[in-house]
Amino acid sequence: MTRMPPLDAATLLMAIAVIDTVACIVWLALGEVLRIAPRAARRLSAYHGLCALAWWPALPASMERLVALPLDVIAAGLLAAGVRGLMRVRYGAPDIIAVVMLGLVATALTAGDPDLSSARAVSNIAGGVLALMAAWDVAIGAGFRAGLTAVVVTPYLVLAGGCLWRAGGLLGWMPSGLGVAGLGANAPLAMLRLVVDLTIATGLIALVMQRLIARVRHLTRRDALTGLLNRRAIEDHLARLQALTERGCANAVMVLDVDHFKRINDELGHAGGDAALQHLAAVLGETLRDTDCFGRLGGEEFAVLLPDTDLDGAMLVAERLRGLLQKHPLAWGDKLWPISASFGVATMRAGDAHGHGALSRADAAMYAAKARGRNRVLRAAGEAEFA
Ligand code: GH3
Ligand code: MG
Ligand code: MG
Repeated sequence: MTRMPPLDAATLLMAIAVIDTVACIVWLALGEVLRIAPRAARRLSAYHGLCALAWWPALPASMERLVALPLDVIAAGLLAAGVRGLMRVRYGAPDIIAVVMLGLVATALTAGDPDLSSARAVSNIAGGVLALMAAWDVAIGAGFRAGLTAVVVTPYLVLAGGCLWRAGGLLGWMPSGLGVAGLGANAPLAMLRLVVDLTIATGLIALVMQRLIARVRHLTRRDALTGLLNRRAIEDHLARLQALTERGCANAVMVLDVDHFKRINDELGHAGGDAALQHLAAVLGETLRDTDCFGRLGGEEFAVLLPDTDLDGAMLVAERLRGLLQKHPLAWGDKLWPISASFGVATMRAGDAHGHGALSRADAAMYAAKARGRNRVLRAAGEAEFA
């Protein structure tokens, strides 16, 4: 069997360049085509683009101080700024810009030194500090959760450590010149850099994808007009509450339907009708607890799931909502339009598949409230005996 020859540093640098080129294109597509975090994506795309240029066949040595080293500092700044943008850290980037400027000025100040070591050391110190700043922002973004934070911060710390170590070597602070050789002459170091670059690129892209999935999931569970939970989300919550009901918890369901909504639509137009639904969602949503699930079942019919609430409690909540709606007419045009709703309340019971029984009993009670003249709250038939 023939053994694979060990990878040399040049091949590994070429692999890093390919990774950076791909990451540059991916961020460009994410930001410009899919409009995902466009500012941060632009910075990260530029970062990977500069890195890719840096790793491709080397510039003539004479250009290193003038072009390559300043570009390294700028690339490190773009990474830090891109990471900060993605992590939604509130402060701007003046500190990042300051470190980049200092790095550039300090590199220029070494111009009189015929040896490039001091210029390389300066650029590595700036790169190291910027990688540490990115590590800090990543830790803030990850919320300092022990395991997760350690995993996501590690590549940035390795990058920072590598830069600072190399700077130390270049300045003669390391024993026997350790760390002086660049990646081009050190295959294990180049391999480490490849792993770090790959981890940083895939980690950030995975983070963006995870956010995208969360956004899509959020959209599939929300009603587009009112922003409330939609029917599917309400049914999910109902099934979860049913499981608690089976364990003996008291939970209640309320269904409400706007009275004479067709008239509102006829008099105010469809846009006015929509505004009325949004108004109802805002007024009632304001008063409900965070644990209550308020959703739109469809049309002008809504449901509220009330965890840890018995029949009397649920009747009180429904009565409060009814009064609140009556107190807050819709302002449309230059007039106030009274809105009322009819409410049906039912408690959840053990043995009810997915809680659908409670929902339909509350619905029936709501229709009974309509039949009795609307703008009122009724408990479901049989609730008193059950209680
Ligand atoms: P009741 O008091 O018996 O409930 O009478 P109603 O007029 O409210 O009930 P009905 O079910 O007869 O009419 C509901 C109307 O709601 C009919 C439909 O066109 C309108 N509607 C349903 N969804 C929307 C919506 O998203 N926006 C608007 N503007 N109207 C809607
Ligand atoms: Mg109605
Ligand atoms: Mg209706």
